[in-house]
Amino acid sequence: DQAAAREARHQPATTRDGHRVEVAANINRASDAASALEAGAEGVGLMRTEFLFLERDSIPSEEEQEREYRAMAESLAGRPLIIRTLDIGGDKEVPYLGLAREDNSFLGMRGIRLCFERPDLFVPQLRAIYRAARHGDVRIMFPMISTLEDFRRAKGIAEAVRAELGAPQVPLGIMVEVPSAALLAEEFAREVDFFSIGTNDLTQYTLAMDRLHPQLARQTDALHPAVLRMIDTTVRAAQRHGRWVGVCGGAAGEPLGALLLSGLGVHELSVSVPQVPAVKAALREHSMTELRELAARALTCASAAEVRALV
Ligand code: PEP
Ligand code: MG
Repeated sequence: DQAAAREARHQPATTRDGHRVEVAANINRASDAASALEAGAEGVGLMRTEFLFLERDSIPSEEEQEREYRAMAESLAGRPLIIRTLDIGGDKEVPYLGLAREDNSFLGMRGIRLCFERPDLFVPQLRAIYRAARHGDVRIMFPMISTLEDFRRAKGIAEAVRAELGAPQVPLGIMVEVPSAALLAEEFAREVDFFSIGTNDLTQYTLAMDRLHPQLARQTDALHPAVLRMIDTTVRAAQRHGRWVGVCGGAAGEPLGALLLSGLGVHELSVSVPQVPAVKAALREHSMTELRELAARALTCASAAEVRALV
């Protein structure tokens, strides 16, 4: 019945043997925060800030951004809010920024790379986030990190902004969405506060298949063992250093993906708002022992089809 379903949504996702997996939502706007909570999300694992820059004709000001981030933090009332700094480029175009056309936009000036080139975008955004961070459990995440130098440079800029504002520190994490970041997870884990695995791009870059290519869509599968092994490498490195790992890519929102990722040992799944109740329900039907076995078997598969045939 409906009341019971509503009640279940607001319960944590605890496996039969008592392991809790956090289930959060991916949102784009402050106005999405209330529906995320209503769906049972325990926080926001990915706020895609580029949406504040789309469908308008000028850069949102620092004040405008601060208002949006602050409203989101306040709606979440102390629950975690992971704000990802601008990830423009690749498939996300913003005409008024006057960015150069690129032959391989997914391999070019995208995400953090663009932010390094454009302090006029990056610095006001960081200022807005640090100012909003006084109003909740805000964490900052950098997209498209592919080298340690990328992270050190981004952290250096963030720290300088924070110091100038006299704002408190907030955790600084990275998206793991490029194979080099997964392969160097051990080194990253010494320096970052947390990881969030972006399976959409990690799949695209691991399999060398454009995530938007219609003819490759069936093969661009995040449950491919090559991708799962990248994730496993990342989670193990994180565990050795006591770091928190979430997943905010699309794989976290499909029931089999949620089970496998939890079995691989991630702490959190951040999914689209409508997927929250089903992901929680799927986790409750299994024990962590079963999920770990399932994940171990998936890692030995030779194809995505074999992985999908496991259940
Ligand atoms: C991802 O790459 O999996 C991700 C969550 O980021 P986006 O889809 O915004 O590139
Ligand atoms: Mg991505």
